[in-house]
Order: sequence, then C-alpha cells, then structure tokens
Amino acid sequence: MSEYGYIDSLYCGSGVDGKGLRCVVFFSGCNLRCPFCHNPETLYKQGKKISSDKLTLDLMRYKGYFRRGGVTLSGGEPFLQKNFFLALSVSLRERGVHLCAETNGHIADGELISACDAIICDVKNQESDDLSVYSAFLSECKRQNKEVSLTCVLVPGKNDSEQKLSSLAALMREQGISKIKFLPFRKLCEQKYQELSLPFPYAALREGESKDIQRAERILTSKL
Ligand code: SF4
Repeated sequence: MSEYGYIDSLYCGSGVDGKGLRCVVFFSGCNLRCPFCHNPETLYKQGKKISSDKLTLDLMRYKGYFRRGGVTLSGGEPFLQKNFFLALSVSLRERGVHLCAETNGHIADGELISACDAIICDVKNQESDDLSVYSAFLSECKRQNKEVSLTCVLVPGKNDSEQKLSSLAALMREQGISKIKFLPFRKLCEQKYQELSLPFPYAALREGESKDIQRAERILTSKL
C-alpha cells in the first residue's frame, strides 16, 4: 500500500552510503538536534510530500546506475516516518533493490530494522556518555542478524578522549562489532546554517584531520 511521507531531496551518485553506488533519499525531520549536524535543512524545513509509489518510480529510473549498489534511506532520521519507510521498503525490495537505512540508532523498532537489508548506525557520543540507547538498537539488529556498520563523527575535544574511546570500545565489544568508521568533523555546512538563520553550535571548534582519525583508531583498537 502506498503511503505519504516527507523528503528533503534525492541524491544519486553516492559511493559512501552503503555497498556499491547508491541513490540516497534524505527524509525530512529528525528526533535529535546534533550540534554538528551536516544537514540542518532536513530538520527545519518541512520538505516535499511524496507517495512511496511515486518515489519508487522516481528511483527506479536510476536502476541501471545503482544495480550493483542500491538505495539508502537517510535524513534527517528515516525511522521517524515508519509507515512511509515500510511502504518504500516493500516496493523497492520486491523490485530487487538492496535497501540500506542510515539512522541515529535511537529508534529500536524491530519492524523497521527487519525492513532493511543493511543498516548504518551513527553513534552520537559527542555530548553524551550514555551509550545505552545504542546497546538496545544494536542488540535488536544482532537478534535479527542484520548487517550493521557503525560510523562516528570525530570532533576534536569532544569525543576523541581516552575515556570516550574506551566507552565506544566497550559498546563494540558488547555487540561483537570490530569496526567503526570515524568521519572527520567538517564545517562545510556552516553556510546552510547561515541561510537558515540558525546558529551553528560547533562553529568555534576545529575541523578533524586525518591525524586525529589515525590517533582515535589506534586508541580504540588497543581497547577492543
Ligand atoms: S541525527 Fe543526523 S540528521 Fe539528526 S540532528 Fe543528528 S546529525 Fe542531524
């Protein structure tokens, strides 16, 4: 059954949002307000209303392109629009499309998790030390034997300390996950905040460099 939802945009040409080349759908709306958010336009604008049938047809025009990859539902937080997500999942997967969700891991809904072929979960430990929400989410993924990749935006001075990396390693050990992809904190999105007349909370922090990533990887590996 077709369902309506809100999306910000479509991007066909990603090589970093799951396996192979992919089309990415950016859902509108999020349950978090991360101070480093790269896509503030998905949080503060309503987005475009579209049906899952229409979006499926739009996406299938690129089938030749993403044949060896698939479609990634991102955002915003795609799990917030449950009925729309589930309807899209059905219509895309029955056409043989590999479906990945890019989520903040705060909605441990078994039905949504089951509707994905793969999941990318971004751990937000920059402002909080409590990772229990990720334990719950990743445990459900593990119970369903889902393919999960972890990412984490490494923000110098926020989540690159020994203590933060130790807690992250503890979560990974608990879940039997041996890899995480650190993404360097970037400020390219600053202009989007200006256009939306919003403050960019991490404006004064420095961007992450490859040496920060290497250091964090070294420390994390030593604790796994
Ligand atoms: S979860 Fe993602 S989209 Fe939502 S506020 Fe955080 S970075 Fe932005």
